[in-house]
Amino acid sequence: MRKPAVAIIGAGWAGCAAAVELTRRGAQVILLEASRTLGGRARRVEYQGTTLDNGQHILLGAYRDTLHLMQIVGLRPSEALLRLPLQMRYPANSGGMDLQAPHLPAPFHMAWAVLRAKGLTIADKLALARFSSAAQWMRWQLNVDCTVSELLDRFDQTERLVRFMWRPLCIAALNTPPERASAVVFLNVLRDSLGAHRSASDMLIPRRDLSSLFPDAAVSYVEHHGGQVYAGTQVRTVMCTDQGWRVQSDNLDQEVDAVVISTPPAQASALLMDLIPVLAESLQMTYEPITTCYLQYAPELSLPAVFYALQDDPEKHRWAQFIFDRGQLDALQAGLMGVVISASSEAIAQGNAVLLAEIVLQIAADLDMPALLNPQWHRIISEKRATFSCTPNLYRPKNDTGMKGLFLAGDYTANDYPATLEGAVRSGREAARQLMLQSEEP
Ligand SMILES: Cc1cc2nc3c(=O)[nH]c(=O)nc-3n(C[C@H](O)[C@H](O)[C@H](O)COP(=O)(O)OP(=O)(O)OC[C@H]3O[C@@H](n4cnc5c(N)ncnc54)[C@H](O)[C@@H]3O)c2cc1C
Repeated sequence: MRKPAVAIIGAGWAGCAAAVELTRRGAQVILLEASRTLGGRARRVEYQGTTLDNGQHILLGAYRDTLHLMQIVGLRPSEALLRLPLQMRYPANSGGMDLQAPHLPAPFHMAWAVLRAKGLTIADKLALARFSSAAQWMRWQLNVDCTVSELLDRFDQTERLVRFMWRPLCIAALNTPPERASAVVFLNVLRDSLGAHRSASDMLIPRRDLSSLFPDAAVSYVEHHGGQVYAGTQVRTVMCTDQGWRVQSDNLDQEVDAVVISTPPAQASALLMDLIPVLAESLQMTYEPITTCYLQYAPELSLPAVFYALQDDPEKHRWAQFIFDRGQLDALQAGLMGVVISASSEAIAQGNAVLLAEIVLQIAADLDMPALLNPQWHRIISEKRATFSCTPNLYRPKNDTGMKGLFLAGDYTANDYPATLEGAVRSGREAARQLMLQSEEP
């Protein structure tokens, strides 16, 4: 049987996953990416002779498909990622909590972590145990979606637990504050991490830049198997022809049997407008920003742990939610800190100069390290459309557009996960699987 020729538009993690999966399943892949750097929202950024990322990322042991595809393209997740047991640690003396899961099988790792957690009262621990057992009993499902805040109220979670655990977890996972976040999606994430086997709850922190963590190797794999990859190629039109599909950019005009559109929803909407206007209209989503502030200090400066949660409080202009010591991940980045502010619209509204001043004040105080006040250089990267706003009952389109040979992939398509690397990779693989099944139909 002739190999179907498939154009994939966009080489983010979804597009790269689709390209690898289609290659494995025997398709002839043509991957087209507008940017010169592969990886989309999870890509490397060069600055001051240092390789940064578009944003500090963290993966979970539950990222089954991502870890699997990394191996297929020849990477070793155990080398590329630092694996840490589940933890929510605030700096000592900053008034937060310290919870770390031991290397025990599930569910004992969580039970032990809660029992031994510092900074939580007996009432907090009982509320947490009540939540976990009720969620297990409900099989991490809700009949009717609601906000995460409503869910936490329903289970009488204490003010301290919400502040130090649920709120930061919800913002980190869904990039949407609990008052607006979907409880169904939040429970999906908890089911696959806290509710699954112990290693699924592990936190995996990249030791290398995000483009080389998967997209670069994915592209090498595709090329090695006869596929073609064009970076710096922005697709302008997708047209349906008698034979199949035609994809055009300024420098390329390609006839193919099928197309996977793996751009963010806004660009997918523009490409679909003349083909399926109703679907194109439905892709107008609302977004949440994420800001990462990189701070370079003297190489000798390091934190007592690789990363910490920090107490944010917008009313007091405390914006930072997590800090990562990149020097503990990669010796070439000694002295480099990555400070994360998710759902950062309020923080960025005041401008980078003020934001920088407030961030260094907060981290120096919380970590009790005055040296953090004076970075040698800094770089603030704000991604305004970092993720879609993950609200209750959100419409997310299927991979199959309903037109033969035309599929969507991306973190925003219908799947259990919020906008994450795993959601993007699963979507790319699923689009590839459905496309190949369809191409085998008579
Ligand atoms: C700052 C930040 C922090 C994050 N933190 C985490 C985290 O800790 N953990 C986690 O799991 N997830 C995190 N995410 C989310 C994660 O990065 C995304 O969910 C994921 O990268 C989305 O991948 P994607 O392939 O669906 O889309 P994208 O990455 O947006 O890829 C789409 C690609 O399409 C290309 N494109 C667009 N239009 C065209 C066109 N016309 N022609 C050709 N190419 C085109 C774009 O250039 C882009 O490369 C974070 C995101 C950001 C921004």
